[in-house]
Amino acid sequence: MPRNPEHDILFEPIEIGPKTMKNRFWQPPHCNSAGSDRPGTQAAFRGMKAEGGWGAVSIEYTAIHPESDDAPHCSARMWDEGDVISFRHVTDSIHKHGALAGVQLYYAGLHSQCGESRAVSRAPSAAPSEAIPLASVHEVDEDDIKAIIQLHVDAAIRSRDAGFDIIENLVSDSMIINQFLQPYYNKRSDGYGGSFENRARFGLEVFAALKKAVGDDCAIGNRYAVDTMDGADGLEVWDEGIKFIELCSKEGLCDVWDMKIGRYSELGLEIAPSRSTNSNYMAPWIKEAKKAAKVPVVSVGRITSPDEMVQILKSGQADIIGAARPSIADPFLPTKIDEGRTEDIRECIGCNICLSKWWQIVPLICTQNAAAMEEYRRGWHPEKFEQTKDPCSVLVVGAGPAGMECARVLGERGYDVHLREAADEIGGRMRDIQRYPHLAEWGRVTSYRQGQLERLGNVEVRTGIGEMSADDVLTYGADKVVIATGASWAKDGFGAVSMAPLPGADAALPQICTPEQVMAGKETGDRVAVLDYEGYFTGVGMAELLADQGKQVSIVTNWDTVAPHCIYTEEIHDIRRMIHEKKIAQHTLHFAEGIEIGNDVKLTIFYLYRDGHERTMTPKPGEYTRRAGTEVTEIACDSVILCTARNSNDGLFRELKARKPEWADEGIQAVYQIGDCHAPRLIANCVFDGHRLAREFESEDPQYPLPWIRERQVWGHETFPKLNG
Ligand code: SF4
Repeated sequence: MPRNPEHDILFEPIEIGPKTMKNRFWQPPHCNSAGSDRPGTQAAFRGMKAEGGWGAVSIEYTAIHPESDDAPHCSARMWDEGDVISFRHVTDSIHKHGALAGVQLYYAGLHSQCGESRAVSRAPSAAPSEAIPLASVHEVDEDDIKAIIQLHVDAAIRSRDAGFDIIENLVSDSMIINQFLQPYYNKRSDGYGGSFENRARFGLEVFAALKKAVGDDCAIGNRYAVDTMDGADGLEVWDEGIKFIELCSKEGLCDVWDMKIGRYSELGLEIAPSRSTNSNYMAPWIKEAKKAAKVPVVSVGRITSPDEMVQILKSGQADIIGAARPSIADPFLPTKIDEGRTEDIRECIGCNICLSKWWQIVPLICTQNAAAMEEYRRGWHPEKFEQTKDPCSVLVVGAGPAGMECARVLGERGYDVHLREAADEIGGRMRDIQRYPHLAEWGRVTSYRQGQLERLGNVEVRTGIGEMSADDVLTYGADKVVIATGASWAKDGFGAVSMAPLPGADAALPQICTPEQVMAGKETGDRVAVLDYEGYFTGVGMAELLADQGKQVSIVTNWDTVAPHCIYTEEIHDIRRMIHEKKIAQHTLHFAEGIEIGNDVKLTIFYLYRDGHERTMTPKPGEYTRRAGTEVTEIACDSVILCTARNSNDGLFRELKARKPEWADEGIQAVYQIGDCHAPRLIANCVFDGHRLAREFESEDPQYPLPWIRERQVWGHETFPKLNG
């Protein structure tokens, strides 16, 4: 289809210093935990975005020197000739598709971890980091300042030699230039502290040195947080935030402003989850800052809609659309707009599972794009699927995240796919989750797949058929069967601490509910206790939902904070504010020992560390080695919600497996299970599971993954195993 002429503006080239960007799609630096350690993954991941039409593609934050080592987190590094060689491969992969390659110079100052290098970082003032425990720094003198500027220059020269076109300074995330700029960090009284001009001096000197060293060959950009969102205590766009841009503009030191808001101690302000904000949430700040910029401005903010992108450019908010997460969820977003296929865009849902993996120090994954980071190690292309040579019929039972994705990919590969869903609509657990407070955007997991399944002529979807029995499946007539029947919350309060059902818990009783029952409309009383042993979004979702109905809510969790997984997704800050604001009582590090139902519901909980802190060193058989604590807390309530464990709905699979001798007579070659039905897990991993099974459907046993390329140094040998090798 031809491109919508309304979208033409997105494809106009734009000059950035000495470089020309072919369109207005800019993938700003974002982490993926490939860093310098996995150059193959890095190159294939970034190259895929260039192939998908992004005009500029950056790698992640790039430490300029061992003093800025962020280990244990995985950053890129531009420390020596080895990095130049590896990143030359990355920039080649980006250039191959006509995109500009970007790098982001990173010197953390106060927030350096130096976990691998054991170096001492330098900062404007000696102070502890408010974000990194035990980080320590040396306060710079003027010789140090000159040295750090030279470190930037050296890294910029290496970056240019590696083929990067855009060299961006990290003037955000509370890093060193930002630390000089903000009185919060900068306590100096010399020429680099005190007045605004003095505090801005270090940044201007870095920019000037870079311009002089590589400015003829590369565009110099600034990733700049125009407002730290601390009010008058921090950098405000209406005050020094914009003044810094004016100073740089006066001196002509910047070729492109990659604008955002926020600070390091709360990354959720800038990498904002959909729980907290809508797309283009930075608009008011960036619009204001743009007034002072004399060069192109990039605006970010989880923007996925081409119409909104056009509006951003036409309204003068920005000249270029920056999109990190939307480019992860759909590397081919620009191409799809260009080809008039906007309905095929796989929109980011703002769950921040991608970011969570950086915190967990493992490679990025994406809920929407199962192929993300699998381009190199598994050879997956997000838009290309190997056609099957054996287009047999496949029955997929269950249309949740795994079943939908499996049916979609099998359909793309040319199989005759029959997707069957017991409920009236597809989506599985997403049908409930998207109705939790603030999680409506997560419904895109279903809406994207629904659209794709509808356009695939070889996939037949039927809903509202009720649960299929083993006889139904055996006599269906399919050659192969995939069971994706999901999981359900335990109805008996089974939990990880006790590894046993909770005495008195029975969701058949009116006072006890599972999350599914709450979402299906089961009534709860005015005082509700939520037992949350999952530690992700379910417990807090239930608590907020019921608090919003005017109920008095308590949340009990065995973890040391409510929703600990949301620390990794950066949802935690607003969750904590919500809990405080909505007066939800918290009992962390507690576990329930029983429920009694009388006039009230009595929930008895205990502190996990109630036992004595000293152990006997003269143990006796059968005796506990500490003073056994017996203190309990009783919560009087009307209802208890059990978010304690999810159990696979694998009864159908197990029955089919038990009847394996009947398969051949019914013409069934194989039966597999995927997603929560195999093991309850993250939505992203269910989508991945369905995707992987479909990609590897002809392997010897697709139930289990094929080997992939492991990027690590093999002494005296090239990387192996090889794909298809
Ligand atoms: Fe978006 Fe979630 Fe994918 Fe991150 S993991 S890109 S937030 S859909």
